[in-house]
Amino acid sequence: MYERGAVRSLTAKGQPGRCQRCWILETFCICASVPVVATRTEVLVVRHDRESFKSTGTARIAALALPNLRILSFGENSEPAKTDLPAEVGPGTHLLFPTDESAPWDGSVVKRLVVLDGTWRQTRRMYTKLPSLHSAPRLALPEKSTKVLRLRESKFEAGRSTLEAIAEALALLEGDDVAAPLHALHAEYVERVFRARGVWEHKKAAEEAR
Ligand SMILES: [Zn+2]
Repeated sequence: MYERGAVRSLTAKGQPGRCQRCWILETFCICASVPVVATRTEVLVVRHDRESFKSTGTARIAALALPNLRILSFGENSEPAKTDLPAEVGPGTHLLFPTDESAPWDGSVVKRLVVLDGTWRQTRRMYTKLPSLHSAPRLALPEKSTKVLRLRESKFEAGRSTLEAIAEALALLEGDDVAAPLHALHAEYVERVFRARGVWEHKKAAEEAR
């Protein structure tokens, strides 16, 4: 459901010893401890095709935990850009994409949350090429109050992984009961990937010293 055939087989077959679902080395597979988190909000992750090949993509892990999440693909190298996102996203759709025009949630009904998944530059280009999103209100996340260990360093203070951003948006919209298991899942995912690479102790110590 969350990975298309070609992408999945290419990546999974190309990386022997990895779990086919979470893509972590089988010894460190996270699948048995992924919670199932039911949400009222439908989450649509529009993922840049290049992102879909990366083994550190947290959208894949979010999809394992959230039955109401779908990953849609976005191929940039065609004109117009090829995407599974409908031309009309409908009322009640909000966009999670940090820009100056993002505003704190005003309490209006959020039926659907669209999340752009890719690098900072990719998502900015994706946004430009997805006119159906231009009228959707943009949801701002509150400032981070805790340190979070991530697989990818961000040059932005507020930089979040996709799973983390989804968890924070759902905390806002549906409360901590929904968000807490997702934050725990993110922390465990990061730890397992770092353990699989043999760098966990080093990363943990470096983070604590920060
Ligand atoms: Zn797994």
